[in-house]
Amino acid sequence: MATELLFRDDAYLKTATARVTAADSGWIELDRTIFYALGGGQPGDTGHVLRDNGERIAIADTRKGETPGSVRSFLAPGASAPAIGEQLTLELDWARRYALMRLHTALHVMSCVVTAPVTGGNIAPDKARLDFDIDIQLLDAARIESETNALIARAVATETVWITDQELDARPELVKTMSVQPPRGAGRVRLLKIPGIDLQPCGGTHVANIGEIGGIRVARIRNEGKRNKRVEIILQGDGT
Ligand SMILES: [Zn+2]
Repeated sequence: MATELLFRDDAYLKTATARVTAADSGWIELDRTIFYALGGGQPGDTGHVLRDNGERIAIADTRKGETPGSVRSFLAPGASAPAIGEQLTLELDWARRYALMRLHTALHVMSCVVTAPVTGGNIAPDKARLDFDIDIQLLDAARIESETNALIARAVATETVWITDQELDARPELVKTMSVQPPRGAGRVRLLKIPGIDLQPCGGTHVANIGEIGGIRVARIRNEGKRNKRVEIILQGDGT
């Protein structure tokens, strides 16, 4: 059964109630969720679920389930799975997710400073990276940092835009990440729009205003292969 993705409309939801639709040893699926499933370089969410009997079970990871559109949350080792039909209160590990949202959105901004095809990327709670198909001599850490931070300082609100598969096919320039093609077949594709800065397909979670990123530092630039020149960033400051 498909899981309603509450974070798609509101990435700031820290808690919600949901009903268990499937369960086995070590995992549950819910009718709706605030937990993002691993994908697009962003890790799966962690947190807790609260049972009516007061038991609090840690969620160690979240992945896509086997049936299309389903999301599977993995319980901490040793936890007993709630029963199908049971209602739970979900609690997101918000500090971790918010760091992921800030870093994820920072990568969108940085991808507009480095004008080269993106060949890979990954986000962790403490750092994030993009790989570019570019001559490494053209990657200047100080320039990337100052130009990215200048864009962040514009503090513009982000927007979610939906377009049809056909509209995306007609605008191939929107797809910057060569290694991750946006999911097709659902008839529509979700885009993140940072007005005046970036527009690209993305199903991840983002901050509402890029000012919340605060600022970034380029931690290192490294050669990871012929078409993979890696720029790794960390956050600067606590956001606003
Ligand atoms: Zn994104």
